[in-house]
Amino acid sequence: MLSDLLRSSLPALVDNGTIRFGESLKEHCSFGIGGPAEAFCVPVSLAQLNDLLLFALYNEIAYFILGRGSNLLISDKGLPGLVISTGGLNKLSHDDNCVSAWCGVLLKDLCGYAAGLGLSGLEFASGIPGSVGGAVFMNAGAYGGEIKDVLYCSKYLVPELSALETGPKLRHLKAAEHQFDYRRSVFQNSGYIHLSSVFRLRKDDPAAISERMRELEEQRWDKQPMDLPSAGSVFKRPPGHFTGKLVDDCGLRGFRIGGAAVSDKHCGFIVNLGGATASDVLAVIKHVQDQVFERFGVVLETELRFVGQA
Ligand SMILES: Cc1cc2nc3c(=O)[nH]c(=O)nc-3n(C[C@H](O)[C@H](O)[C@H](O)COP(=O)(O)OP(=O)(O)OC[C@H]3O[C@@H](n4cnc5c(N)ncnc54)[C@H](O)[C@@H]3O)c2cc1C
Repeated sequence: MLSDLLRSSLPALVDNGTIRFGESLKEHCSFGIGGPAEAFCVPVSLAQLNDLLLFALYNEIAYFILGRGSNLLISDKGLPGLVISTGGLNKLSHDDNCVSAWCGVLLKDLCGYAAGLGLSGLEFASGIPGSVGGAVFMNAGAYGGEIKDVLYCSKYLVPELSALETGPKLRHLKAAEHQFDYRRSVFQNSGYIHLSSVFRLRKDDPAAISERMRELEEQRWDKQPMDLPSAGSVFKRPPGHFTGKLVDDCGLRGFRIGGAAVSDKHCGFIVNLGGATASDVLAVIKHVQDQVFERFGVVLETELRFVGQA
């Protein structure tokens, strides 16, 4: 149950940011699945973000950093403590051929901004839902491009109680220090909070950039179930295989448990056909993993991240 401490202390910390208690997390993820957040906070400045993190650390309250929820499966039981959305941290700026974006900027907005400035390099990312923070965290990629190809440097925060005396500890990472790999970055195991990144791009004709983005988005709509709630590709691509083909060859196209099903259109996606629970999705994932392993001896590792209690 929500402690009195949260109700009495949090509103002062987020000031003109947002705080809501018991907010349904279905509204904050692309799958449309998940229970309530004990406290849902939307800081609108780095100072507010820092205050919320210190509050959680000092009071030993759990916290979770939420981007746009497009790579998440959130527990039906919801999430305890603070869910801190980065949606209010969304500044964009540029200098010559570099664009700087805060963690909460939508990737789509970053791509549109770069295209408008005649800066090329982010075309691959224009159809990937989610925020800049989530994309750096995941080293998101598509159509032969990845965040690591265009990222120049990042700023991040290390949540530590010592910041109560010293102020927030902002640190910098050069591109090579991000430990980028296929859908991996240093942010996944460090507890660092990504604040912003600078992307180094190339000058090109704005109309040509926009046209390339449009073509890639069209391909996405042709091949992926963009009309149904999902979290994109559920599994990482196993070396030497295509996930969708493995799943299809197991006869699992359209395989359904409750409201969750392997997409008819792209077997690497699980879609919410209406009223799916996290348990439904987890059951479909397990069945697919078991069948693919039994038939082909291939281990499917999830790309999607499950958060909360099963
Ligand atoms: C239809 C569809 C298509 C997709 N296509 C692609 C694709 O082509 N390529 C691809 O790579 N992905 C794809 N995805 C998956 C998803 O969009 C990406 O992984 C995206 O980068 C996730 O960003 P997000 O802001 O939604 O992160 P979230 O899902 O909110 O969070 C993902 C993880 O990042 C962490 N996180 C978020 N922000 C921060 C921060 N500031 N600091 C620290 N940790 C943070 C969260 O705690 C969480 O663990 C697709 C998803 C959908 C629904």
